[in-house]
Amino acid sequence: LDPIKENYVRQVRDCIFSAVQPEPFTSAVKLVAVSKEVVEDLLDLDLSITETKEFIRFVSGAQILPGSVPLTHRYGGHQFGIWAGQLGDGRAHLLGAYTNRHGTRWELQLKGSGKTPYSRDGDGRAVLRSSVREFLCSEALNYLGIPTTRAASLVVSNDDVKRDQFYNGHVRNEKGAIVLRVAKSWFRFGSLEILAYSGETELLRKLVDFIIKLHFPLINVTSSNRYLEFFSQVVTDTSYLIAQWMSVGFAHGVCNTDNFSVLSITLDYGPFGFMDFYDPNFVPNTSDDESRYKIGNQANVGRYNLDKLRNALKSLLNPKQQLLTEHILKGYPDLYQTKLMELFRAKLGLIGHDNNDDYLIAYLLKLMEDTRADFTMTFRQLSEITQQQLVANSISEEYWAIQDLARHKKFSYWIKLYLSRLNRNKLDTDEARKTRMESVNPRYILRNWMAESAIKKSERNDFSEVRFLKKILRHPFNKQTEAEDAGYSSRPPSWATELRVSCSS
Ligand code: AMP
Ligand code: MG
Ligand code: MG
Repeated sequence: LDPIKENYVRQVRDCIFSAVQPEPFTSAVKLVAVSKEVVEDLLDLDLSITETKEFIRFVSGAQILPGSVPLTHRYGGHQFGIWAGQLGDGRAHLLGAYTNRHGTRWELQLKGSGKTPYSRDGDGRAVLRSSVREFLCSEALNYLGIPTTRAASLVVSNDDVKRDQFYNGHVRNEKGAIVLRVAKSWFRFGSLEILAYSGETELLRKLVDFIIKLHFPLINVTSSNRYLEFFSQVVTDTSYLIAQWMSVGFAHGVCNTDNFSVLSITLDYGPFGFMDFYDPNFVPNTSDDESRYKIGNQANVGRYNLDKLRNALKSLLNPKQQLLTEHILKGYPDLYQTKLMELFRAKLGLIGHDNNDDYLIAYLLKLMEDTRADFTMTFRQLSEITQQQLVANSISEEYWAIQDLARHKKFSYWIKLYLSRLNRNKLDTDEARKTRMESVNPRYILRNWMAESAIKKSERNDFSEVRFLKKILRHPFNKQTEAEDAGYSSRPPSWATELRVSCSS
């Protein structure tokens, strides 16, 4: 059957994948950007290959490699707290897996590559703006040290894609784009949920065993406790991932269970956002009316999602093991909080553990919230300023985020606490503290205004800024002259506060 022509909106049963060919664009395709590191280091390719016609055809779904059977994945999910039933890859094709020279296996997936049996009422396409955001942000998070899917390439076509973007009262014409994404696995919580909900227990067992075998080498696949160990690992890794998001001010935007990876990597870049000033109520997605996925709620949502995963595993567990999964999940808040504090202690350059560290950190965040001090740059500038300057209260314009913070009447009290805590760092020098802090507090993140500016140019066929951002965000912890000139570590422009991102993609 040709699923595209025959019957593409349907409920699929008793399978994990459907074989579907990508739908190539009908117009000419241009290469917007490539990730040199993914191409060279993950896929063992010479960068020069990305300039060939064959490469463009491959990354736009027009040419399938010999032996490759493109697959689309059937999954379900809880969206905004409600079981949504069958979802699946509505616009993505898994091209295959490649094991590279280091023995690491990478799954290659196209996104925006046409309709599938799981497209529902979607058109199977992705527009340029959301593809630029995914390409840049997934690579940026990787270089911030946060587990994530990767992006190898981004192409744009001249094919029109209709979206609900109103510009001066008319619908704007948008162009279809495709990202070649790379990850160790694309399975989500929803991959297991769909099988559990439709009573496909044996297939569920097969899939979880497959995932454990391939991706959880420390778990013995023959052990009767393997599903418990798997769950326990996902609980820990998910708590760590969300703590890492929080440590850089990243809000995913759509934390549905179909967007939560079983490998606990950041998955599905939609209306995400980095917050500029610190605000626990920051909601990056304009369609999230109830602020369900506001940044300060991500840890809770992680727990909710893990509970759905727990439910999905129930049929594989005996009653005693089921009870144990509840117990494991009860440990989640502690795992999260411990990891979060570890990350924030490092952000403040603290060595070891002090009973008052949590207070010191919470106090700073409150000052930032009250003064709307920039989250990224406050931590960065605290890394760059010397203790002497802080003691003398000589904070120059270069430290603009700290200047904002210093307007708070409790600022000097906090600084006193902070300096006395730094003094308890044994055998530490101020130089060493600064180096430590600079290695964990980025100077550059993908702010919405930066992405927006690069997108505007791309839509006029100027891809230079996407490539420039890709290059800068490769080294987020290093001060770079070009990035300074571009204003990437300056106060965000005033128009940035007006920017919102919708779900439309
Ligand atoms: P998301 O909210 O991005 O996680 O998407 C939810 C589901 O909708 C996923 O199964 C997507 O594959 C599907 N989807 C989103 N956009 C499209 C589209 N343009 N065409 C087909 N399916 C889509
Ligand atoms: Mg998704
Ligand atoms: Mg999405």
